[in-house]
Amino acid sequence: MSRFLSDRFAALTPYVPGEQPRDQRYIKLNTNESPYPPAIGVLEAVSRAEVSRLNLYSDPTARELESAIAAFYGVNAEQVMATNGSDEALAFCFQAFCDQKTGACFPDITYGFYEVFARLYGVPAKVIPLDEQFRVTPALYRGAGGTIFLANPNAPTGIALPLAAVEEIARQNPNTLLVVDEAYVDFGGESAVPLIGRYDNVLVVMTCSKSRNLAGGRVGFVLGSADVIRDLRKIKYSFNPYNLNRLSLLAGAAALRDEAYFRACVNTIMETRAWAARALGERGFEVLDSRTNFVFAKPVRLGGKAYYEGLKAAGVLVRHFDAPRVRDFVRISIGTPEEMRALLDATDRLWEEKRA
Ligand SMILES: *Cc1c(COP(=O)(O)O)cnc(C)c1O
Repeated sequence: MSRFLSDRFAALTPYVPGEQPRDQRYIKLNTNESPYPPAIGVLEAVSRAEVSRLNLYSDPTARELESAIAAFYGVNAEQVMATNGSDEALAFCFQAFCDQKTGACFPDITYGFYEVFARLYGVPAKVIPLDEQFRVTPALYRGAGGTIFLANPNAPTGIALPLAAVEEIARQNPNTLLVVDEAYVDFGGESAVPLIGRYDNVLVVMTCSKSRNLAGGRVGFVLGSADVIRDLRKIKYSFNPYNLNRLSLLAGAAALRDEAYFRACVNTIMETRAWAARALGERGFEVLDSRTNFVFAKPVRLGGKAYYEGLKAAGVLVRHFDAPRVRDFVRISIGTPEEMRALLDATDRLWEEKRA
């Protein structure tokens, strides 16, 4: 730390992204990226001609991308705002809708960035425990007194909350904003988008990083009531009006337009998830019911950390969180069938070594 850092960040612990080691080739099942390339339309949209226009600013209104999003979800363009990844959308929500008076609340086990943003923006956080089976208890959010952040399906558990329960939280807290982070919803969750026309306190955050094969493109978006979206635009234009670069705007719009490829990739990943989860179960793992592009699994013969380390030594990266309640688990992104087979082979070898 230099002597120049503001005191308010002295105790800030930043988010730790999944490791990207360069020392050897790994099978990367640790950051929930899609194992499949972007839609062909994305490759065509990011053309040489478009690259040659990078001397010009990008469209601050993100018109083409936001219309593609609005068309896909059947909402008005005023109900949509595109962001530089959904992490930026979440940051804007903390800036716009949280302060000393209106804190933030979220589950004890969830996406680690909520806690980081709360610290970054000096927002008091109320942490609400998941039940024994890692499920959200809607009644605990009643009058919790702060903007509610719910990842649904949740990370890193993969568990989905039924839409009726999301609606119950929105209905019981009409004067509180409910931000539903649907980064993984396309892999079998129930989206809260149908609620946004009926509840002005529901905001849905989505991303092209997982189900649209565009993690490196950094394209996220928010869907909500026109009023709430207007508030978010106020923050965006006070921070970085050109938040999406020209190439990401084109890539995002092209990804949104290719519904067939999107569905095909998502279906393949869900099929791979089903047999990979079964195969892990047959090896004695406790595997939580995932509606995401990863599984959260508890190895029986090794602790979570030892299993993670053993896999890494075998060239397979998964994610281990050294945190209460989840340190016995690892989070395994769903890769191609070949990658999952390599994971299972490496697992079998570890079990044999352990027995020997
Ligand atoms: C991956 C992820 C995000 C962030 O994705 P971006 O790449 O910033 O769009 C947001 N929320 C959850 C729960 C995630 O897992």
